[in-house]
Amino acid sequence: MELEPLFTIKVTCNYCENEFTTSRVRPSFKRAIKTDTDFCGYYRNENPDYYVVRVCPFCGFASTENSTERLNERQTARYHEEIETRYIKRDYGGKRDWSTALETYKLGLLCAQTINEKERIIASLLHHIAWLYRYREDREQERRFLQYSLESYIRVFETESNLGNDARLMYLIGELNRRTGNYNDAVKWFSRVINDKKIMDASMIRASREQWAVLREEMLNDGHELPEEMQN
Ligand SMILES: [Zn+2]
Repeated sequence: MELEPLFTIKVTCNYCENEFTTSRVRPSFKRAIKTDTDFCGYYRNENPDYYVVRVCPFCGFASTENSTERLNERQTARYHEEIETRYIKRDYGGKRDWSTALETYKLGLLCAQTINEKERIIASLLHHIAWLYRYREDREQERRFLQYSLESYIRVFETESNLGNDARLMYLIGELNRRTGNYNDAVKWFSRVINDKKIMDASMIRASREQWAVLREEMLNDGHELPEEMQN
């Protein structure tokens, strides 16, 4: 018997506390056939990233499994005033295509911004939206959302980061700077990962070295003047 890639789970809404079902991709189908240098995955079957945002069919509240589980009074009031009264109810529990996935991410982002969710969650939603546009080769929208997610990841680094010792986050900020054409900032962030003696994450150090070399090549090709640390 062949296994279906999707299965459903029950989730309790963080806002209205009703229980609803949402789909997920089975772990055995989750392996990416290719991953970009900013961790965007490509899949043969269902894309597990399409199913990250869970949307409550009763009230419309959209969240991820990493979102704040209990909303405080202020957040509840904000959601009620800003979104709930205007939301057109729809069930996103089944199979999702590209456009449905994008809708769920935009709802997720709207909810997260409305309740002032942790910056890490907002950064990740913005980054996922950029990936969706990349799948469609919509370069303009991809770049727009990469830029937003970059700004958001920098806020994460400044406010939530583990004493600046978060190699994956620093690498990602470097890579998003490179992808959005902020070459000098990209150099700074990659150099930090490579040179900071406190960083022990070997795979992020390696990735930073590789992207540092890619960046150097790009800058030479585009006729940019190389910063001092890149000159030899
Ligand atoms: Zn709900």
